[in-house]
Amino acid sequence: MEENDICREWYERKSNMDKIIFATGNEHKMEEIRMILKDLDVEILSQKEAGITADVVEDGTTFEENALIKAAEIARAARNMPGYEDAVVLADDSGLEIDYLNKEPGIYSARYMGEDTSYDIKNQTLIDRLEGVENDRRTARFVCAIAAVFPDGGKTVVRGTMEGMIGYEIKGENGFGYDPIFYLPEYGCTSAQLAPEKKNELSHRGEGLRKMRTILEKKVQSEHLDA
Ligand code: IMP
Repeated sequence: MEENDICREWYERKSNMDKIIFATGNEHKMEEIRMILKDLDVEILSQKEAGITADVVEDGTTFEENALIKAAEIARAARNMPGYEDAVVLADDSGLEIDYLNKEPGIYSARYMGEDTSYDIKNQTLIDRLEGVENDRRTARFVCAIAAVFPDGGKTVVRGTMEGMIGYEIKGENGFGYDPIFYLPEYGCTSAQLAPEKKNELSHRGEGLRKMRTILEKKVQSEHLDA
């Protein structure tokens, strides 16, 4: 066996970083995650692809707490599944904070006015609640916390944000959720009017994922050095 092969085999046996499970069933999120983490040279699976089902109660009081609760719950399930005992588990929690409304809907963004209420209704309600409010008091941001649970039990969480303001009307067909009322003054349009690639580049989730990528890269490097 060549020296290189011996090193590779040793590294492959030693490395815990060969799989990442992302705690989501949302394919749109998975595409974005795969794109941003593609250089990491690890297999990236959704929770569904890993065959993990868990009913997680998101009862934290911050985005960070909820992301950590989700990641810890899925990691607990993964530790009992052959092949995934050593996987790194990632989870996110995101939402919209409107400053004038004391950061509502915040961690309740998905549940605001009930999960089954359409976003046309939710968005119009938020516009109505800001009736008469001047531009400089319509500031808002999308927030995304991304948590990681490592095979050694270590945990970390990062936050990404996208700053903007609440528009005066529903506009744009791209994106989802609150995008049609989230106005970006520098671009003169809502995040629902941005091309998907541009939204990924600017988004809270994109920023959070890039921060997490830096942490994961360091982990991979340090495992190389330990091996
Ligand atoms: P979750 O993190 O998937 O639970 O998302 C929470 C909720 O926040 C979503 O259901 C949306 O209402 C809102 N949200 C999060 N990110 C975005 C975004 O990029 N655009 C629009 N709405 C978002």
